[in-house]
Amino acid sequence: MMKNRLKILFVSSEVAPFAKTGGLADVSSALPKALFEAGHDVRVMMPKYGCISERKYVLRDVIRLRKIPVVIRGKEYAVSAKSAFIPETKVQVYFLEYKPFFDKKDLYVDSKTGKDFANNAERFALFCRAALETTRLLHWEPDVIHCNDWPTALIPWLLKNDYAEDVFFEKTRSVLSLHNVAFQGAFEPSVLPKIGLPAELAREGGNMEFYGRVNFLKLGSLYADFLTTVSPTYAHEIQSSEVMGAGLDSVFRARKKELIGILNGVDYTIWNPEVDPLIPSKYGAANLKDKLENKKALTERCALPFSPDVPLIGMITRLAEQKGFDILLEAAEKIFELNLQLVILGTGDSLYEKRLVELQKKFPQKLSLHITFDDDLAHLIEAGCDCFLMPSRFEPCGLNQLYSLRYGTLPIVHATGGLADTIVDLNRDPAKGTGFVFSEYSASALFDAIQRAVESYIDTKNWQKTAKRAMKLDFSWKTSAEKYVKLYSKLDSIKRKN
Ligand code: ADP
Repeated sequence: MMKNRLKILFVSSEVAPFAKTGGLADVSSALPKALFEAGHDVRVMMPKYGCISERKYVLRDVIRLRKIPVVIRGKEYAVSAKSAFIPETKVQVYFLEYKPFFDKKDLYVDSKTGKDFANNAERFALFCRAALETTRLLHWEPDVIHCNDWPTALIPWLLKNDYAEDVFFEKTRSVLSLHNVAFQGAFEPSVLPKIGLPAELAREGGNMEFYGRVNFLKLGSLYADFLTTVSPTYAHEIQSSEVMGAGLDSVFRARKKELIGILNGVDYTIWNPEVDPLIPSKYGAANLKDKLENKKALTERCALPFSPDVPLIGMITRLAEQKGFDILLEAAEKIFELNLQLVILGTGDSLYEKRLVELQKKFPQKLSLHITFDDDLAHLIEAGCDCFLMPSRFEPCGLNQLYSLRYGTLPIVHATGGLADTIVDLNRDPAKGTGFVFSEYSASALFDAIQRAVESYIDTKNWQKTAKRAMKLDFSWKTSAEKYVKLYSKLDSIKRKN
């Protein structure tokens, strides 16, 4: 029997719009919203980073959470919590504050040095423990604690160890969502005493041991009552090889009965060209011609020639190997021989940045580069481009290809993870196609897909028909949220794994 109203604590290291480095933030805002709309009691917890404006988001003190004692190996850390709602909703977010750890504006990487914060293990271990202590002080016993990625991955272990005898959490089950297993939170074993974990976890073959280091994601993956990934294909991929599982494939295989993929959805209140306040000309499938005004605005902003006949391709991405920059750079000279324009918005690896800057100098009429994080420009790119490029080596789900579909901006993607689950190749299936898909991860296969897109663009009528088909697809969170609720509801029957 499904319980009617579940109490769900959603714990995440980033939540849009408060703090975001990638797709995790979008999910951490949209999924709780969808769960709330489905009638559940959802609360979100995240760290209070220095970048989160208390004034802008109207953060309020919560009297009983002014001083939350979190004790780690006899040392007391005084955490406090403030609260606010996700904008335009009634979903409550608690911001856990411990200034010595979280006062900097950056989330994981110090932008001044380009390096991870040296105390990331201590920062997020404290966050995990503080989340549980805060929940207790709220006298709100969650049915499920939904954890996300390595920064929250100690929680499943804590529930079954430090809190094992605590009646407060007796009925609480844990879910750990794997948004990207390449990020694992691996540290030197010497951090264990500092974060209050027993040394045996680091022994060879121990639950946290990973090539001589200690690994948060491994521990969470072993102890969570259930694991999810953000697309069905990615759930298979991470078990399929050492490379795709980033070395944890055997752990994921061991949990295969408790591991499913649930595709991420889209928050169409934010990503919808019919109502998007960040684009100059609103449009939908019924007035697709108005999209062209956005192309004009985008080319002006990018100092590119405005040419309705030339396909404009967009990318919004971290500049990271994962995102396919090795094959893109290898194919670049040939790509720019084609009749197209490319806009890239992204930040990340300085090596890729340098190579892209060189390319822009060489092809100023064809490539416009924006090395920054800019949400407004991201929306304009979705609206103004004809195609969206995601040549990712691997992609757990990917959100931008889903946004692109709604904006009638046909995705060109490598067939991996969520990209494989969501985009149908137009040449292979002209009746259902929504984009251009290449299977082999290589510069030549990427080039071939881009070339096919450029050729297809010439047939304006069919292009528009395809764009309209893409725009009508529905990847809203409602369906995915229902799958999570189904999963949460069956957790009661799962015996605790020790
Ligand atoms: P990932 O989480 O691996 O970075 P996703 O496609 O799942 O990739 O999500 C990326 C999210 O971050 C999207 O909402 C995208 O628009 C946004 N994003 C990434 N880079 C930038 C940037 N430089 N400026 C604005 N938004 C960005």
